Amino acid sequence: MLHGSLHCEQVDLAAIAEAVGTPVYVYSTATLRRHAQVFRDGLKAAGRVHLAFAIKANPNLAVLRVLAQEGYGADVVSGGEMRRALAAGIPAADIVFSGVGKTRAELCAALDAGIGQFNLELEEEGEVLAAMAHARGQRAPATLRVNPDVDAGTHAKISTGRKENKFGVDIDRAVEMYGRLAELDGMSLRGIAIHIGSQLLDLAPLEAAYVRIGALIAELRKFGHFISRVDLGGGLGVPYKPGDVPPSPAEYGAMVARVTRDWDVELMFEPGRVLVANAGVLLTKVIWVKPGSINPYVIVDAAMNDLARPAMYDAWHDFAAVHPSGARMTANIAGPVCETGDTFAMGRDIDLVSSDDLAVFRSAGAYGATMASTYNSRALVPEVLVDGDRFAIVADRIHPETILAAERVPEWLEA
Ligand SMILES: *Cc1c(COP(=O)(O)O)cnc(C)c1O
Repeated sequence: MLHGSLHCEQVDLAAIAEAVGTPVYVYSTATLRRHAQVFRDGLKAAGRVHLAFAIKANPNLAVLRVLAQEGYGADVVSGGEMRRALAAGIPAADIVFSGVGKTRAELCAALDAGIGQFNLELEEEGEVLAAMAHARGQRAPATLRVNPDVDAGTHAKISTGRKENKFGVDIDRAVEMYGRLAELDGMSLRGIAIHIGSQLLDLAPLEAAYVRIGALIAELRKFGHFISRVDLGGGLGVPYKPGDVPPSPAEYGAMVARVTRDWDVELMFEPGRVLVANAGVLLTKVIWVKPGSINPYVIVDAAMNDLARPAMYDAWHDFAAVHPSGARMTANIAGPVCETGDTFAMGRDIDLVSSDDLAVFRSAGAYGATMASTYNSRALVPEVLVDGDRFAIVADRIHPETILAAERVPEWLEA
């Protein structure tokens, strides 16, 4: 694309930078829809399945609306996410409430809303939920989240299925616990849920976990328990850097179909990253190119507060100039925040850029804007959604003045 300009669908990213400023997240509606459809098609082999987008990956209201139009429900992990899912028009019955620390107030709000499924994390949570539901003359639809003790083989901070992780109940204790929970008044226990981790580039750990769940289902049924639903979680990885080759949704679907063939349950999935990561970029502007001792530092106006993944997970995001000249440079890429961790890449071969040039971090649609903060009193990064030749700001830039206006100096400190 020499002498061209990077576009999102038919919109020139330079036009978005001009209109909205930088840094800004830019999402493609067409890509969101395509990913939603490819994932659904991939799972066709497994029969009729329920799909709940794990909205923590990208909870923007407009993104949720697109995925709701594609027939996705929502996997939520807080009362705030539940309210977003409802606000986006996702029916309560298609909402699953996951999370290791649902508060009593959140359980109560979710019962009020009539959500479709609670994924229980511990026995006491089930007891509290069942008592609340019983008191209202309801029965809470639930599954028990099991920790299958498999190593997802991904970054330690995004592994969730090892015995020592905080999520789910020990698979060895699941049968007795299931029996006790199923008997509670106010409880409608329907099956099992798991989620072993994120950014999985290999199907083997998922398959190992699913095989264990298959054995657990057989065991539970032997004891006469009712299992109609199994939630297999999310976790499918995406390509971030050259050499990343995640399984395709079709390969995933074929594995699921093979492993679950005899389960005789409704299957449910909670994809997050795989739907949104490659539907978004973080558009940024080069502030300076600062000479360094080995390589120059490209200092961009996006920082770790806007895109935390490199600082948090050592994550890789491809970097590309919006107007590439064809020339290359080897550089470090960093933001303005006063932390050494505010570094996106070291010694990377990138498009040659200089001050005021526009560039993008690719694959930034998942766990990007949603993790943003205002650290260093920076603005909260805005979001733009593109659809064909049009675009709209779908989240405003929140300026430091607005944040400042929510702070108070107590009277005893006033002069
Ligand atoms: C985070 C999460 C997901 C989504 O994970 P991805 O890797 O983004 O697909 C699904 N289910 C639960 C319970 C989660 O916590």
